[in-house]
Formats: sequence, C-alpha cells, structure tokens
Amino acid sequence: MKYAIQSRNDKVSNQLMDEAIDYLKGFDFTYDNEEPDIVLSIGGDGTLLHAFHKYSHRLKETAFVGIHTGHLGFYADWQPAEIEKLVISLARKEYDVIEYPLLDVTINYREEKESTRYLALNESSVKSPEVTLVMDVELNGKHFERFRGDGLCMSTPSGSTAYNKALGGAIVHPSLLTMQLTEMASINNRVFRTVGSPLILPAHHICVLKPVRGPDFMVTVDHLQLLHKDVKSIEYQVSKQKVRFARFRPFPFWRRVKDSFIENGG
Ligand code: NAD
Repeated sequence: MKYAIQSRNDKVSNQLMDEAIDYLKGFDFTYDNEEPDIVLSIGGDGTLLHAFHKYSHRLKETAFVGIHTGHLGFYADWQPAEIEKLVISLARKEYDVIEYPLLDVTINYREEKESTRYLALNESSVKSPEVTLVMDVELNGKHFERFRGDGLCMSTPSGSTAYNKALGGAIVHPSLLTMQLTEMASINNRVFRTVGSPLILPAHHICVLKPVRGPDFMVTVDHLQLLHKDVKSIEYQVSKQKVRFARFRPFPFWRRVKDSFIENGG
C-alpha cells in the first residue's frame, strides 16, 4: 500500500510522523507523495484541509485519516496513542471507508476568461473587499433575494460544524447530500429584505450568486482565500465527488459533536 503523511510541522506532529513511519516500515507500505492510497494527516482539522486540497485531484484513489496532536478535531479525530493500532489495522486492511459530500464552486468572469473551479470540504464564503456585499441570490435559475450585508457562506454537511456553525447555521449529518447557505450580518429593514434563515439545499439544486455592486470579491474555499476580479457569477452545487475517510473504530458524528461542543468523554 502506498501512503503519504501531511504533518502540521510542529515539534509534536513531526515526532508523531517519525513514529508512524517507523511502525509503517514493519509492514508492506511504501511512501508515495504523489499517488498515495492513504494519507495520514497529523495535526488538526486545518492540516487535513491542506491534505485534502493537495490530493483533491485523486479522491477516488485516496482515503484520509486524521490524527490530532492538539484538541479533538472533526476530521482529525484519532488520538496520537492510537497510531500503532491504526497502522496495524491499515496493514491488515481492517477498516471501513466512509464518504462525505463535497461542494463544487465555480467562479465565472465577465471577460473571456476561463471559469475557476474548486472543491470545498468545509465551505466557501464570499465577501466584498471594501464595501457592503450586494448580490442577487438565484436558486435553480430563479431570483430568490437580493442580499446586502457582510457576506454569504455555503457549507458542506461536514463543514456545518465549522464556520457555518459560527454563523448560526444548522449542524447537518454528513450522510445527507446537501449544502447550506448562511448569511453574515444581512441588512434587514423596511427597504432591504433577506430570508434571514439558513437554507439547506438538496443535491440537485444550484445556487448562483450574481454581483449587483462591484466586480471584485474575496472568495474563500476552506483555508484558501483569494481575491477574484471581474466576477460575473459564483455557482454552488453539491459535488458528484466525495471525500473518503478510513475508519478503524466507530466514532459517530453526533458523539464527535458532543465531545467537541458540549462535554468530552460522556
Ligand atoms: P484552523 O486550522 O485554525 O481552523 C480553525 C478552527 O476551525 C479550528 O479550531 C479547527 O479545528 C476548526 N474546524 C475546521 N474544520 C472544522 C469542521 N469541519 N468542524 C468543526 N471545526 C472545524 O484554520 P484554517 O486552517 O484556516 O481552517 C479553515 C477553516 O476555519 C475554514 O474552513 C472555516 O470553517 C474555519 N473558520 C471558522 C471561523 C469561525 O468559526 N468564526 C472563521 C473563519 C474560518
């Protein structure tokens, strides 16, 4: 089996990486940074986001495992003490693969420039660099609302516990093929009106944001943040692709939610 390791690059994560490499040497594993079957991400959720984007071109072939060297993460949900057990399970192929939905992000430009496409594991958000964001929100080709405010965020189910949650979005189980649109400080008064609630959209729906003011926007995709100029529209859709995680023991999603946000170990 071919593997690669993505480390957060701090002392603890690098030590654990060396330990993992030592264990892996005892089995039939070869290091392959280009075409790994399995990627061990050692650090936090941010480390796994980096690993995901590094290998997002080969999601059918690559499965991910996240080990946390800080606090428990949503993707980095294995403990450092479990590394030996994890390697043995990998070698014996004693693991399940679970799949989570992803978000397709397409940015179209006003000029004859080719569209930019991204895959998001957590979310994509849109903000205006200087002024209030004013965008028309279209659902399935029909005008839904004119949004005025700080920004909009479209999250995946597994990203619903990240930025989406901080914006008042619902926590969505990752078995549901959905995407969720949340508002950032919308302007709502007698003149301007938005729905004011997060929208959970199914897989076959398409949400298009069309600029009303300004052609330049700050678009985030997970940890990536880029200024896009001359934007004509931003399209969001539940992706046909999925990310795969290797699971060695059950760790139900709601248990992770409880351990992360309510109390640990209950
Ligand atoms: P980072 O690694 O410091 O991550 C920020 C925090 O988000 C960490 O505590 C991490 O554990 C947590 N996180 C990431 N994905 C998560 C998930 N799916 N569920 C629950 N918690 C999760 O910073 P980064 O590498 O720049 O990470 C980018 C992510 O940070 C973005 O995808 C976004 O979701 C999140 N973020 C959150 C806020 C907020 O909560 N106000 C604001 C901006 C970005």
